[in-house]
This record gives sequence, C-alpha cells and structure tokens, in this order.
Amino acid sequence: MTQTIINPTPKDYKSDVKPTWCPGCGDFGVLNATLRGLAGMKLAPDETVVVSGIGCSSRFPHFMRTFGFHSVHGRALPVAQGLKMSRPDLTVVAVGGDGDFFSIGAGHLVHAALRNIDITVVVMDNEIYGLTKGQTSPTSPHGHVTKSTPYGLMASQFNPIATALSLNVSFVARGYSAKPKDLAALIEQGIQHKGFAFIHALSPCPTFYHTFDAWDAAVTPISPEHNIQDRNQAMMLALNTEKQFTGVFFREERDTMDQAAQKLAERGNPFDVEQYIQRYA
Ligand code: SF4
Ligand code: MG
Repeated sequence: MTQTIINPTPKDYKSDVKPTWCPGCGDFGVLNATLRGLAGMKLAPDETVVVSGIGCSSRFPHFMRTFGFHSVHGRALPVAQGLKMSRPDLTVVAVGGDGDFFSIGAGHLVHAALRNIDITVVVMDNEIYGLTKGQTSPTSPHGHVTKSTPYGLMASQFNPIATALSLNVSFVARGYSAKPKDLAALIEQGIQHKGFAFIHALSPCPTFYHTFDAWDAAVTPISPEHNIQDRNQAMMLALNTEKQFTGVFFREERDTMDQAAQKLAERGNPFDVEQYIQRYA
C-alpha cells in the first residue's frame, strides 16, 4: 500500500541513519536539497527509489527513508534504468560521485543519455576521489598535485555539462551544495521532466580538496535571459572555464524509451521476416 504523507516536510524523507560524511562535506547540502525536493513534490517514499554506486556520496540511500539500492562501483545507471523499465510507476533517482559516473561508469552515462529513460541523476562532483583518500578523478584539473599525481595531473579535465549536452541529454542543470534551496528546485524540475535528467551538483570535499570558499567565488547563476532550448547557448556557458554557471542549461521534450516502445507497439510488428529474408538471402 502506498505510504502517503500529508503535508510532508524534508524530515519525512530522512532515515534514522546518521550520515557518516566528514564534518563540512558538501554532500550534506545535496542530501538536504534532495529531501526538500522530494518533500516539495509530495512523493510517496515507498514509490521512490534512490540508487547509488560506490564512493562517499554513494552512501546516500542509507540516509533516506525511501527505497534504496547501494549497488556496485559505477553501476548505478544500469540498476536505475532496469528498475525504471520494469517499474515505470516508481520515481527513480540515481546518485553518486564524479569517479563513479565519469570514470568507471562513464560508458553507462553515454547510453543512458541516448536512451532517454525517465530517471533523474544527481552527480556530486568534488573533483577528487574522497573515499580512497584524495587521488585525482576525471574532473580534477590538469596539473593537480595529489598522492597519485605527485608531478601534477597530465590528463585534461572532464567537463560534465558539455559532455551531457553533446550526448543529447534532455534535461541538463547544475546546482551547488551550498545553495540547497536552489538545488532542491533543480531536483524537482529534473524529476518532473519526462526523460533522462542530469543534475551536476558541485559538492566540495574539504578533507581532500576544495573548500566552499573556492567555489563560492566561481559559482554564478545563469541569466534569466538564457534560452534553455538553445543547445549552442548552453554549450557556451558550459565551456566557460572562469565561472561555474548554475541553473538549467538545457531542456528538450522528446520521446522517452517507453514512449518510443509504445509507439512501436501501436504500429504493430515493424520487422517483416519474409521481406528481410528475400532481401538478404
Ligand atoms: Fe566528504 Fe571528502 Fe569526507 Fe568523503 S572524504 S565524506 S567527500 S569530505
Ligand atoms: Mg569524487
């Protein structure tokens, strides 16, 4: 039976498990924003599933009173997509970090974007591997010195928003964990969007890298003049290396995978075996 909450507050979506993150970790702000977002939408906790991979941020489902799935490193997206395909009635949110989504799980991001399955992804990006104590991740800047790159990172920096735009993701946004109200609004819009929604959440790891001060200076809200249907304009914002623009970069309504499957079914079987044999025999 659906567990409906009348007039829910963010607390109604919070479990009794105390977060194990370091004091000052940005992931607290993202958790706070997610709780607000779900409460804002009055989603039934037992019709909502939060799926994660492995990493500091992937502990997330334990701290929520929804259903949860703490899966395997880099594999939040296959689990989340399979879940949504088999239970389209559920709200599915996949969460994790930059290592999880842009390194070991990067291949899954490409195909999830192209399929446009109706799930929401929140990537907590701290530009470092926090759980394993501070090695470079795909979003670490070129030249960054860590224990794993004592002479500076030789690779170039992965750009999550530009990548999402080039993969034709149908909802692309960025928020900041220090602004949980704004991030909550983006999470709500992402869940409401029918299709694959990608939310890049800047989430500092003060233990091994950024402090909030470093990002406070760079974070800049996207102008209200920005046309969210203009992918080229969105790309210009994404490629700006001085500023970290926040807000909705791009949104497009297009068929989700189940809508496309529905249309296929309505047309009848499009694959004519006889014709195929005649043509290729
Ligand atoms: Fe957060 Fe960094 Fe601590 Fe992990 S190591 S809990 S990312 S502050
Ligand atoms: Mg990380």
